[in-house]
Amino acid sequence: MRKPLIAANWKMYKTPKESLAFLREFLPLVKDHTTSEIAIFPTMSSLGYVIEATKGTNVTAGAQTMHWLNEGPYTGQTSPTMLESIDCTRVLLGHSERRIYAHETDDMVNLKLKAALDHELIPVVCVGETLDKRQSGLTEAVLRWQIACALNGIKGASCGNLVIAYEPVWAIGTGSVATPEQANEAHAIIRREVAAHLGSPCASGMRILYGGSVKPDNVASLMSQPEIDGALVGGASLQAKSFAEIVRNATAA
Ligand code: PEP
Repeated sequence: MRKPLIAANWKMYKTPKESLAFLREFLPLVKDHTTSEIAIFPTMSSLGYVIEATKGTNVTAGAQTMHWLNEGPYTGQTSPTMLESIDCTRVLLGHSERRIYAHETDDMVNLKLKAALDHELIPVVCVGETLDKRQSGLTEAVLRWQIACALNGIKGASCGNLVIAYEPVWAIGTGSVATPEQANEAHAIIRREVAAHLGSPCASGMRILYGGSVKPDNVASLMSQPEIDGALVGGASLQAKSFAEIVRNATAA
């Protein structure tokens, strides 16, 4: 059984004060929740505060990105050892907004994934096709390519807590959620590709999250699909009540 993971990507929203205000409202709403793991990915300026405020709760926190090296002349970057030093346990890698606006390549995602696994940070590797590629019938090719690149040189034995998020670019922040069937099909492609690289035991134990316009009223139908093991939520995770409702609805059935 794969325990669902419901994760909030706060993107470039919330100051530390706003992040802590969110937690004051959110933590009591989910305090008895045991049927899924809950994670929050705040901005780097809020991360340390969120980690401290969630210690001893059923919520964990992670970074939205990191460099693959431990230190160096890379202005603006944060390293895996720096994340470890503030008790950070998770990291998002290769989000499409990082690929588009920060020009992260598949090779960089691969280096970051290797670093995350070396440092025992739980990685959530984001993949997904653009609308153009979907309309050209290239969804499978894109997903297989992104997974193959991300996993290049990684051995099955080290796959540990690897999580993948399928986030079709056309569904992120647009309100155009993938149908449960479209998402399930994409997740099956991803799982097959992971099995080809890391072996079936790793692939069948690995969680694949769906991300892209997840809301309280569509999460249950997405989660009813056998290949969907959780959600990565952007806009609808910014309000405590809405994210708590998503957490509850995800495993209510
Ligand atoms: C995201 O940023 O990962 C995301 C899925 O955003 P949204 O839920 O707003 O589409």
